[in-house]
Amino acid sequence: MAFRRINPTSLIDINRVGGLDHIEESADGLVIGALVRYAALEQAGRLAGAWAALPEAARYVGNYAVRSRGTLGGSIAQADPSAELCVAAVALDAHIQLRSRGATRQVAATDFFLAPQTTLRAPAEIVMGIRFATPPPNALSTFEEFRERSGGLAWASVCAGLAIHDGRISWARVGLGSVAPVPMRAMCAEAMLTGSMASAQVLAEAARVAASECAPQPDSHTNGEHRRQLVAVVVRRALERLLRRAEETTS
Ligand SMILES: Cc1cc2nc3c(=O)[nH]c(=O)nc-3n(C[C@H](O)[C@H](O)[C@H](O)COP(=O)(O)OP(=O)(O)OC[C@H]3O[C@@H](n4cnc5c(N)ncnc54)[C@H](O)[C@@H]3O)c2cc1C
Repeated sequence: MAFRRINPTSLIDINRVGGLDHIEESADGLVIGALVRYAALEQAGRLAGAWAALPEAARYVGNYAVRSRGTLGGSIAQADPSAELCVAAVALDAHIQLRSRGATRQVAATDFFLAPQTTLRAPAEIVMGIRFATPPPNALSTFEEFRERSGGLAWASVCAGLAIHDGRISWARVGLGSVAPVPMRAMCAEAMLTGSMASAQVLAEAARVAASECAPQPDSHTNGEHRRQLVAVVVRRALERLLRRAEETTS
């Protein structure tokens, strides 16, 4: 509505629908209700370790006014390719929980986003919540992005995850934002990391591979090659942070 793309004749306020503002961890993973606001995610101190990327991602969204009103469900439904929580959903094996009058279903985030502002959600469905799959033991995650100024949209972002056992990477996730029509997984970088010994060289090489996997288009902010270089930088920073955290955990 703010962009004047749509001019609806009626609006439905879901703010007072009960049961959609929970953050619950179970054997099935972590479920976050659609009405959980960015500010609540940011302040959810128990979202650490494997879930640390979620509050870290929320902290990058817009400004405090936006974070105190905007919701996870709204972000997922809106499907902006630069939206931090959409990138985290794709990286961390999330499923989008949808409900219509007669049915419920869950769609993998990797299938849900079709194009900018376009998803698999049917008009009669609402987003009830997002379920993040249980990560393997030792998993850690983080979020990193480059933007021109505080409060601006990301020029390149990454949600990264690593599990490291005895120095060897057993699980890797590299989700990228702002570099394709939808958030994407850098599958070659993930495959390269998995099974490798964790070292600064391996992480830097994975960052270069991740950058080579995307083909960002030029826009009014910057050209595609610059954005690709930014991907290599944010991915390397995120992976190095995870390695440092893993070393701190084991020392
Ligand atoms: C100045 C500014 C800066 C911003 N910066 C960022 C940023 O850096 N990163 C970022 O990710 N976002 C950013 N945003 C977008 C903003 O964060 C909102 O999160 C986003 O628009 C969703 O807001 P909302 O939850 O209020 O949903 P609404 O604005 O109310 O809804 C957005 C769309 O989703 C639909 N919708 C909402 N909830 C549901 C649901 N549960 N089920 C089905 N459909 C639903 C609505 O019908 C509508 O089409 C910014 C916005 C502003 C104004």
